[in-house]
Amino acid sequence: MNETLIQGAYIVAGLLFILALAGLSKHETAVMGNKYGIVGMAIALAATLWLATKSAGLDALALIVVAMAIGAAIGVTVARKVEMTGMPELIAMLHSFVGLAAVLVGWNSSYESAPYPAIHDVEVFVGVFIGAVTLTGSIVAYLKLSAKIKSAPMILPGRHILNLGIIASFVVMTIAYVLVPHDNTFMRQLLLGLMTLLALFLGWHLVASIGGGDMPVVVSMLNSYSGWAAAAAGFLLNNDLLIITGALVGSSGAYLSFIMCRAMNRSFISVIAGGFGSDGGVVGEAKDYGEHRETNAVEVADLLKNAHDVVITPGYGMATAQAQYAVADLTSKLRARGINVRFGIHPVAGRLPGHMNVLLAEAKVPYDIVLEMDEINEDLPSTDAVLVIGANDTVNPAAQDDPTSPIAGMPVLEVWKAHEVIIFKRSMNTGYAGVQNPLFFKENSAMLFGDAKDRVEDIVKAL
Ligand code: NDP
Repeated sequence: MNETLIQGAYIVAGLLFILALAGLSKHETAVMGNKYGIVGMAIALAATLWLATKSAGLDALALIVVAMAIGAAIGVTVARKVEMTGMPELIAMLHSFVGLAAVLVGWNSSYESAPYPAIHDVEVFVGVFIGAVTLTGSIVAYLKLSAKIKSAPMILPGRHILNLGIIASFVVMTIAYVLVPHDNTFMRQLLLGLMTLLALFLGWHLVASIGGGDMPVVVSMLNSYSGWAAAAAGFLLNNDLLIITGALVGSSGAYLSFIMCRAMNRSFISVIAGGFGSDGGVVGEAKDYGEHRETNAVEVADLLKNAHDVVITPGYGMATAQAQYAVADLTSKLRARGINVRFGIHPVAGRLPGHMNVLLAEAKVPYDIVLEMDEINEDLPSTDAVLVIGANDTVNPAAQDDPTSPIAGMPVLEVWKAHEVIIFKRSMNTGYAGVQNPLFFKENSAMLFGDAKDRVEDIVKAL
């Protein structure tokens, strides 16, 4: 295989990655998209291994194969063990590895000479900067998503000035790095080391200052950063495919974040700048909403028997309870009685985009009765009963009614407009964003306490 063949293989792999991304955008084509991605990655790996052997010999190939075998063993074990609900944490952790790789590649390249030293120096600085921000940002996202640290935003005094100051220092240090003579190793390492520390701090600070409700956007933003970090490493390693792939991941991640921000009525700039322009909201404030009403499975079964239109709005609790099969069973029983059952899916229900759709598809709920929030909201006032199964923030009216709420402005499923609302959960605890839900205290709401799967099965029995 010569140079031209390798470049050809890279172009084919790049095209397959584009087809993979296009395929992943729809339910029906997602499996095919995955296959394109796998073939593309296999071609890319074969070409890269060949290139490595050609330039560094068989010893290098042996080292790479050993490293790949260790990585693959860890990867397969973790992927087999992870629950669907743990995917965002896993993704955040994997992003931190991409960031770490970019930092290591950058530091390594800083010791190499290049034909255009000034451009190479800038590449080193940019690569290490993006990599370090991605590294610590992803670690904080992992800790928040796995509830190892509080998801509430951390508000440091003068935080925006601090962020801007770090970015300005980065620009000044980059210029200084380019200007310092290459034989002044001490000064160059000092500048690179200082910049790395500042970037590590910035990544941690940017994600730490973002509140729980905005975490989905942060995960997709970090996905984008990891792409740019890989592209920067591609420039340093002179690898075209890494540049193309990094740019694809970077731009698709940024676009996904933009779409999610629009869906959640959040400012894109605010989220990428660590909550810039938001006051962080008041998390978990105790307000008195009055008394709630409790119900039981038999009463809910009676309510459903007499209903014409039923809407189910699932959330994270359906995933933790693994209630999707029981919910699918309930759906087919109700449909067999001629009741019109539909699902309303909030764009960020659960813990990753599309989480609910995947679970319902797994339980064989027909696609055509699974509707998006915007499609179902206008039908809710004429709906007889809404079953809120393990959802909380995504059905919280405070998002519309309370401008001081941390989720203020986020579009929600307007379930309270239906005639009756049944809320399946285990306690009066708050949801992911840590705010109480006034829905639970409305006159047309009733709480059905317990594990969602058990309660849905009880209703199926009572029918
Ligand atoms: P929430 O986290 O707001 O609420 C889930 C509810 O499920 C809780 O109130 C909990 O109440 C209940 N629950 C948990 N386990 C069970 C169980 N076994 N049986 C019955 N109920 C249970 O979920 P939503 O889906 O409504 O909202 C998603 C939230 O997650 C949003 O704030 C979103 O921003 C955030 N997020 C979303 C991501 C995404 O990409 N989609 C990624 C990261 C965060 P109780 O404990 O009383 O049972």
